[in-house]
Amino acid sequence: MLNPQPLVYAGFYVLVVLLPLHVAMVADPFDLVRPWMVELAVALGFLSFAMMWMEFVLVSRLRTLSDAFGTDTLVQFHRMFGIGAAVFLIGHVLFLLPTGGLALLNPFAPKAAAASGAIAFWALVILTISSLWRRRLRLSFDLWNRLHRWLGVLAAVAATVHVLAVSGYSSARSVVVVTWLLALFAGGVLFWYAIVRPLHLWRRPWGVVENRELGGDVRLLTVKPEGHAGFRFEPGQFSWLITGRTPFSREQHPVTIASAASAAEAPQAYAIKRLGDWSGEVVPSLKPGDRLWVEGPYGALSVDRLPAQGFVLIGGGIGITPMLSIIQTLQARGDRRPVVLFYAANDFSRTIYREELAAWQRAMDLKVVYVLEQPEAGDGCERGRLSAEILRSHLPDAVDHFQFLVCGPNPMMDAVEHLLGELGVPPDRIHSERFDQV
Ligand SMILES: Cc1cc2nc3c(=O)[nH]c(=O)nc-3n(C[C@H](O)[C@H](O)[C@H](O)COP(=O)(O)OP(=O)(O)OC[C@H]3O[C@@H](n4cnc5c(N)ncnc54)[C@H](O)[C@@H]3O)c2cc1C
Repeated sequence: MLNPQPLVYAGFYVLVVLLPLHVAMVADPFDLVRPWMVELAVALGFLSFAMMWMEFVLVSRLRTLSDAFGTDTLVQFHRMFGIGAAVFLIGHVLFLLPTGGLALLNPFAPKAAAASGAIAFWALVILTISSLWRRRLRLSFDLWNRLHRWLGVLAAVAATVHVLAVSGYSSARSVVVVTWLLALFAGGVLFWYAIVRPLHLWRRPWGVVENRELGGDVRLLTVKPEGHAGFRFEPGQFSWLITGRTPFSREQHPVTIASAASAAEAPQAYAIKRLGDWSGEVVPSLKPGDRLWVEGPYGALSVDRLPAQGFVLIGGGIGITPMLSIIQTLQARGDRRPVVLFYAANDFSRTIYREELAAWQRAMDLKVVYVLEQPEAGDGCERGRLSAEILRSHLPDAVDHFQFLVCGPNPMMDAVEHLLGELGVPPDRIHSERFDQV
């Protein structure tokens, strides 16, 4: 049956974004008709204002949204609508330039209405440029992340001051009320995210049980809940691991749960690849008994939500982690449905869980196909990159009733989604999660 939740949320988003514009049109406090360029500019401004506030709602870790769309999709929406808000704001300014002049772009203008508008404009422009070209600008993820949050808040607050201070449509009481309601709603979600959520987590710490090297620059971190019941998850989901002195710490990273989905209070394992400061320095320094916080579960990449006669799992590099949880869970449940795992990596030294995968092959209906770009001579694997031929030669006949789950580096995911399309697999049977979202 069709899940109505995503449709309801999408409808709510459209309603909220259009509401200030609609109320302004109905209220229309002007006696005379204004130039069309000004009317259009104002319309774009109202749309941009509402979209700016809704950007926070999309990435505030609201579980109900993550369940409905998947975190990956929410990040894509956040990016797409963020660009939309910036384009509308640029349009707003461009259409007003003939009447307002370059003074519109002066953040130090004497009048609050003009200065706040210019501040919102520049904050959103810098935020968009730094997000689109983060790597080209050589901004570290951490620095970009901080800049992104503060510029986002600055843009939304300045835009609100602007809407309220401009003596135009906002001279109508209904426009003022809707402006405040929107800011309070999104600001409330932001308050929950920044204050209430960490306070709630603080009372639910987790402890490190084991932290060991797995090879291939990957560590296996095992953690368990301390003094509380933990949480249940579906195989393929991820958590935010929060390290530091409190859950308010900025060190919050999404990592897939690599162990089997079992009882809520059972220890959870995370396979973490060394990439940057956190995974390369903080994670290796964690010792048994150390405290951290685990916030989850999140994500919609889960076999439990998919009706299927079998599964094709395609994992590249560290993107193997959701597949490990899925396989272990199916095995623990005694699930007899066939599973084919394509494990893409550079060579065997970059793979993890080799012995375990061999053991699981004997214990369940699992076929593991290693696809290695530069394997050592004589290895039992496919050579090169994953191709339509490799996929075709290992897929069973009944694959029409299988679901396909894909996770890996972005170029691999793009290539695999294309290959599966070539093989005739419809998009609604391909499910993926991107680790590298920004
Ligand atoms: C849904 C999901 C599941 C993931 N599962 C795993 C996993 O099972 N194992 C694993 O090793 N890695 C996983 N990752 C990637 C992991 O989050 C990053 O490797 C880690 O955050 C790197 O942080 P760093 O400071 O060491 O490296 P940096 O050099 O700071 O970051 C490297 C890249 O990691 C991403 N990243 C860094 N910090 C964050 C953050 N706070 N939020 C979102 N993305 C961030 C960015 O794309 C960045 O470009 C997952 C990512 C996502 C989105």
